[in-house]
Amino acid sequence: MGRRFGPYGGAYVPETLVPALVELEQAWREARRDPAFRREHARLARTLGGRPTPLYHAARLSRRAGGAQIWLKREDLLHGGAHKFNNALGQALLAVRMGKPRLIAETGAGQHGVATAMLGAALGLRTEVYMGEVDVARQRPNVERMRLLGAKVVPVTSGHRTLKDAINAALRDWIANVRTTHYLLGSAVGPHPYPSIVAELQSVIGREIRRDAEREFGRPPDLAVACVGGGSNAIGTFRPLLGLPTELLGVEAGGPRGARYGAATLGRGRPGILHGAYSYVLEDREGQVAETASISAGLDYAGVGPEHAFLRDSGRVRYVAVHDDGALAAFRWLAEDEGILPALEPAHAIYAAVREARRRPARERVVVTLSGRGDKDLEVVRGATRARA
Ligand SMILES: *Cc1c(COP(=O)(O)O)cnc(C)c1O
Repeated sequence: MGRRFGPYGGAYVPETLVPALVELEQAWREARRDPAFRREHARLARTLGGRPTPLYHAARLSRRAGGAQIWLKREDLLHGGAHKFNNALGQALLAVRMGKPRLIAETGAGQHGVATAMLGAALGLRTEVYMGEVDVARQRPNVERMRLLGAKVVPVTSGHRTLKDAINAALRDWIANVRTTHYLLGSAVGPHPYPSIVAELQSVIGREIRRDAEREFGRPPDLAVACVGGGSNAIGTFRPLLGLPTELLGVEAGGPRGARYGAATLGRGRPGILHGAYSYVLEDREGQVAETASISAGLDYAGVGPEHAFLRDSGRVRYVAVHDDGALAAFRWLAEDEGILPALEPAHAIYAAVREARRRPARERVVVTLSGRGDKDLEVVRGATRARA
């Protein structure tokens, strides 16, 4: 478990946090080798989470694209409706193992907060979730879910009042309460060892894709596509495929048409430090962290995981941006062609996958990670549709 991905990663944190990060790394190293921990983790992933998730042939969507065959990795069928469960389960079990009775988390779209609240309830841990005030307003149903699951939701009023500010608030809480509290970070970002722990826990996605592709196609996928916010569902998809001939495509949020930054950190940002790690960051002309914009709260983040920064520079993964209108179009395609309402985050990946499939021959297989379901986004989609009508 390296501290660095090329020049990226590391742990740029106040000294008071260093012992907690060292303790976390130690605990994770021991846990992942402990057969009892692995058994319990696998049992709950299956019986509470619903793993493994299927690989679904989107035949009608493929016909719309008119080229390669599109397959969906159905993380939307996981407990809580998103891939977030994979990470929350592993870290919550780790908190129990470390003897920490309290969980804190940050959340953007609310999906990670919901996953943490579920695991907090299931494992008997007190849970508090930091959420930017702007996100509290635009993701009401998830706020309600967290409260019903027994978690306390703390609205964050500093900065731009979105995900970046929620992470800052959670880090401040952790520094003050580190003895009793595990910070259950929700994406493959932050100081070492978080990016490595989260990537390992999400890699179950890519391992299952690899296994099911072998069974369905008799070979690895030709292309794998995933959306990139902080980058956890994407790194979980990509990691197990890195050594194969599969092409890899990460899809960032381009935001509204004409937006200066959107949330395309790898496309429009530059190397810098944010939330304890050296990676790409979106900065404005004054060098401040830029105010991002995206129709999907889960992609609306000015940072990105350090492993993606490395994979971008090395050229092993290609990263592109899709605008809000592309995501909305893909939302409708998937609804009307396949009867699936996707979350707006993976709708960005679906749009890019259809574009790719269109210019590829029918024998090729494109796998897209459908990271979550769209129930949380119905208001946003309705609002966008009304604005256009
Ligand atoms: C949170 C979220 C994302 C973005 O987070 P990553 O860490 O980049 O995966 C994508 N899709 C869904 C459904 C989410 O809830």
